[in-house]
Amino acid sequence: MPRPTPDDHVRIVFLGGLGEIGRNCFCIEVEGRILVVDCGIMFPDVDMPGVDLVLPDFTYLRTNADRVEGVVLTHAHEDHAGGLAYLLRDVQCPIYGSPLSLGLARNRIEEAGMLGHTELIPVFDGERRTIGPFDVEFIPVTHSVPHAFAAAYHTPQGTILHTGDFKIDLTPVDGRRTDLARLGEIAQRPSPREDGRFPGVRLLLSDSTNAERPGFTESESTVGSAMRTLFRDREDKRFIVASFASHLHRVQQVAEAALASGRRLAFVGRSMANNVTLAREMGLLRVPSDRVIDIEEAPRYAPGEVCIICTGSQGEPMSALSLMAAHEHKYVKISEDDVVVISAHAIPGNETSVTRVINSLYQAGAEVVHGGNAPVHVSGHASQEELKFILNLVRPEWFIPVHGEYRHMVHHADLAEVSGVDPDKIYVCEDGDAVTLEDDGLVTDRRSVPAGYLYVDGIVGDIGQGVLRDRRQLAEEGVVVVILTVDQRTGETVTGPEIVTKGWVYAPEAEALLEEAKNEVRDALAAAAFDGATDFEAIRRIARRSLGRFINERTRRRPAVIPVVMEV
Ligand SMILES: [Zn+2]
Ligand SMILES: [Zn+2]
Repeated sequence: MPRPTPDDHVRIVFLGGLGEIGRNCFCIEVEGRILVVDCGIMFPDVDMPGVDLVLPDFTYLRTNADRVEGVVLTHAHEDHAGGLAYLLRDVQCPIYGSPLSLGLARNRIEEAGMLGHTELIPVFDGERRTIGPFDVEFIPVTHSVPHAFAAAYHTPQGTILHTGDFKIDLTPVDGRRTDLARLGEIAQRPSPREDGRFPGVRLLLSDSTNAERPGFTESESTVGSAMRTLFRDREDKRFIVASFASHLHRVQQVAEAALASGRRLAFVGRSMANNVTLAREMGLLRVPSDRVIDIEEAPRYAPGEVCIICTGSQGEPMSALSLMAAHEHKYVKISEDDVVVISAHAIPGNETSVTRVINSLYQAGAEVVHGGNAPVHVSGHASQEELKFILNLVRPEWFIPVHGEYRHMVHHADLAEVSGVDPDKIYVCEDGDAVTLEDDGLVTDRRSVPAGYLYVDGIVGDIGQGVLRDRRQLAEEGVVVVILTVDQRTGETVTGPEIVTKGWVYAPEAEALLEEAKNEVRDALAAAAFDGATDFEAIRRIARRSLGRFINERTRRRPAVIPVVMEV
C-alpha cells in the first residue's frame, strides 16, 4: 500500500468506478492529506444472488482515516453518494456538496444514524474553497440531477480537472449551463508556480459512460415536448410516469406537460415524495400546490384528469411501479385506461426486472411507453462529440478516462488521442491503481490499493466471494443432504443413509434414483467399515464422495453434497 506522498507530489488513488458503472470513488492526496471524491455504490448483477448493493473497498481509507480531510460530492446519484453511510462508520469527516446533493444524501446518512457526527458543508456554483491543503473550485455542469459539479483541484503539480458526470446541454430545463467559459479560462490559466511550469490543466479525469455513443446527447428539454405530444394524443387516459426520483428536471417537465393538459399530479413512492418535497422547498421544482393531490384521491378523478409520477423505473421489486404491475398497490389498479411511461434507461443489471414489469403492465391492459418506442428519455452523460469538445477546450497535458466499464474508457482514450492529447500521456487506469504527479510527469502504480467488490446483503457487511460462489452453486445445481448414523466403535452404519434434496431432482418423481443413490452410499460405507474405517471425518468424506460421484455419473450435475453423520 502506498505511503503518504512526499510534500511536492500529488497522488490520485482510484477506489472504484474505473471498470464498472457504479461505486465511483477516488482520492486526491496533497501534502499527505486525503480528499475523497464521491463515494458511490453499484447495483448488483444477476450473478450476485441476494446481494443488495456493492461498495468500494474502503480498506485504504480506513487505514488512513486520520489523513482524510473530507469528502467532495460531485452530485448525489447513488453511484456517487450511495456509499457514504458505510464510509462514515469508519471515517469521520465533513462532506462538501451543493445544497441539493447534501439534501439528497442527508436521508441516507440519517438512516445510518451518522448524521449527528457528520458536518455537511454546502458549496455553490463557481465557488473556490480551501479544504486543508486543497484548493478546490466547483464548476457547474449539466447532468440528470440538478446542481452537479465538475471540480478543479489547483495543486502544486498544476490543476487537476474532474468533469464529474456531465453532458453539454445547451438548453437545460433550469437554465443552468455547463460553465464552458470557466473551463476555457482554467485551460488558459498561467502557471501558479515560480518556475512557470504546469499552466492550464495538467490532468483531466473525464466521464466515459457514453464514450461509445457517436454524436451529441440530446437536450433534456426534448423530453418535455415528447411528453406533451403523448398527453395530447391520449386525452382520456390516466398517465403513470416512472422516473428516477432524483431527476428533478424530468419530474418538472412531466409535471408541466401534465398540468398543460389539465391534469392533477400525484407523487408516489417514498423517495419520489421525499425528493419532490425537498426540491419544492429549495425552489428547484415549481408545481402549484392546488394541482397536487394525494394518491388516495386519484380514483375520484376521471383517468384523463390524473398523472401519477412515481418511482420504479428500474423494476425494483418493492417500488411503486412494480407494486402496481403486480396488482399489489393499495390505490392504483392498472387497467386499459392507463398509459405507463418509463422515462429512464435501465442501469446495467436491472434490464430483466424492467422487462418483467413492462410485461406485467401489458398483461393488466396498460399501454407502455419507454425509451425503446418513444423519445421519453435522454441520457445525462456526454456523447463522443461532447467528450471531444471538452478535450479540445481543456487541452490537458495528461488524460485518464474515468466513470465507465473498461471498454468505455478505452474508447474515451481513443477520443483523447484524436483530440490531440499525446498518446504517451493517456492512461487507462483500473480500480486499485494509483497515479502520482511529480515534476517529471505522471507515474502509475498499478493495483497498489485493495479495490475489490464489497457485497452488502441486508445489514450484513461484506459477504465475500466465498458466499457468492456457494449461492451461485446452490442456485444452479441445488443441494443434496445425506444423513446417517454410525456405530463409533465399528464404523458400521446403524441408520440411513437418508437423502434430502432441494433443487437437484424433484424427489417424488425420482424415487428409484434416490434408492440407487442410497445403495451406492451404503455400499461405499460398508466397504470402508470392512477396511476398518471408524474415523468420523473419513466416514463423512466417503459419504460425500460416493454420493457426489454417483450424482455426477447419473445426472451430469454437481449439486452441493452435505453429509450429516451422527455417532452412537
Ligand atoms: Zn450521475
Ligand atoms: Zn455516475
